[in-house]
Amino acid sequence: MTSAVIVGAGPNGLTAAAVLARAGLEVTVLERLDHVGGASASAPAFGEQSLIDLGAAAHPFGVTSPAFRALGLEQHGLEWVHADYPMAHPLPGGRAAILHRDAEQTARELGVDRDAWLRLHAPATEDPYATAASILSPILPWPERPLHLARIGVRGAWPTSLLAPAIFRSGAARALFAGNATHATLPLGMPLTSAFGIAFGGVGHSAGWPFAKGGSQSVADALRRVAEAAGARIETGVEVTDLAQLPAADVVLLDITPRQLLRLAGDRLAGPYAKRMAGWKYGPAVSKLDLLLDGPVPWEDERVARAGSVHVGGTLPEIAAAERDVAAGRMPERPFVLLTQPTVADPERAPAGKHLVWAYAHVPHAWPGDASAHIEAQIERFAPGFGERVLERRSSPPAALELWNSNLVGGSIGGGSIGGTQQLLRPRPLKPYRVPMDGSVYLCSSSTPPGGGVHGMSGWHAAHAVLKDLGA
Ligand SMILES: Cc1cc2nc3c(=O)[nH]c(=O)nc-3n(C[C@H](O)[C@H](O)[C@H](O)COP(=O)(O)OP(=O)(O)OC[C@H]3O[C@@H](n4cnc5c(N)ncnc54)[C@H](O)[C@@H]3O)c2cc1C
Repeated sequence: MTSAVIVGAGPNGLTAAAVLARAGLEVTVLERLDHVGGASASAPAFGEQSLIDLGAAAHPFGVTSPAFRALGLEQHGLEWVHADYPMAHPLPGGRAAILHRDAEQTARELGVDRDAWLRLHAPATEDPYATAASILSPILPWPERPLHLARIGVRGAWPTSLLAPAIFRSGAARALFAGNATHATLPLGMPLTSAFGIAFGGVGHSAGWPFAKGGSQSVADALRRVAEAAGARIETGVEVTDLAQLPAADVVLLDITPRQLLRLAGDRLAGPYAKRMAGWKYGPAVSKLDLLLDGPVPWEDERVARAGSVHVGGTLPEIAAAERDVAAGRMPERPFVLLTQPTVADPERAPAGKHLVWAYAHVPHAWPGDASAHIEAQIERFAPGFGERVLERRSSPPAALELWNSNLVGGSIGGGSIGGTQQLLRPRPLKPYRVPMDGSVYLCSSSTPPGGGVHGMSGWHAAHAVLKDLGA
């Protein structure tokens, strides 16, 4: 029987384990932490009475992931739960722009920009699953669903800071679009940022941005069940410090990032590939803050309290300036804050009457500070009196995130920047998953295509590359 060892039980390692075990390989997964899930894990907090997501919280590309659908996670205990609105974007002056699970309603509320909003998002709104399949696959040598991708790409290739003012007349539409584009974690003046805006907005209109009931851990637990049901063995609390320590196996898959690969492979990795790994850019980081509140956030626009996710950053120029600063290594006074309100959709995560807020600010890579005060000040701008509702705080600045999960290098959450050549050459063209060294070694983390997010697609594609190379 062909055997595979997988290092790391994040969503990508677990997805690869499930695919390979189902294909009949003898699979062993070794995980450093005492739980599976990597950055899709949840844990009790605030006196053990609440459940918080330690990493990912909202799942537009989990609910649409081709891998998760093919593995049938919903038949293995995963339940997606939705807030009334996928996302809200508070604006200066007290009103908010709302992303509805109805493109027409979203657009209608944007008034003069109704038609432009609908036209821009049409490809992603009409078929969120084709959108996920096309953007969650390697682009080289040939993308999946090329025509669909081209429809998104015509406008998606534009920098958001050029496209939004060119096609929208209102500040509300510009800001709503900019917040979605900011998921690229790139300055909004960069090409391709608009593709993120279109994809996040369009998928939100139709598939939503759900939470996993019982926390993002439920995604990992469902993956674990699928893998184990197919015969995979998962060992937690095992840190691999050198590839030489791995048990003998026909193939090795690594759910880790380039910096760790260099450490684990030592001088067995050489040449241009090792050089590229050494020069890998991780991109901006996040500083995370979890809060327990004695009531909902008192947003000026009360509808915001019914949204699952909230983009707290103000206008397009404000967001663009903050993202520019972060990319340049400067901590902005008013950073872009991505906030979720999990108890709006999944109230059992907190004691009755209490509310949870999960938030992070974009900060410079490896920033040594703690952005808790910045985050709270940003929320207070759009929800005066919010600070008085805070009962407890739990802060996870970049260094704490990396200490917890070594893949979060310098506090970066996507396995490496998608700027420059790292979008297409992630980490190299044509055979992105195969590591050019002795033995059959593959990378399967978010440092490979398609990149960050809880969708399992790096693990899915890496496992299929393994099966192809095995002739299976
Ligand atoms: C704060 C935060 C917020 C996020 N928000 C979202 C969100 O809302 N939605 C979304 O889709 N995505 C979000 N993400 C991103 C998403 O969580 C990641 O992109 C995704 O988890 C990557 O999966 P992975 O399997 O590649 O790596 P990881 O999830 O990082 O898993 C890697 C695993 O490998 C293990 N490991 C590493 N080195 C070793 C070793 N030497 N030996 C053994 N085990 C090892 C680690 O312990 C870890 O369990 C967020 C991430 C963070 C940190």
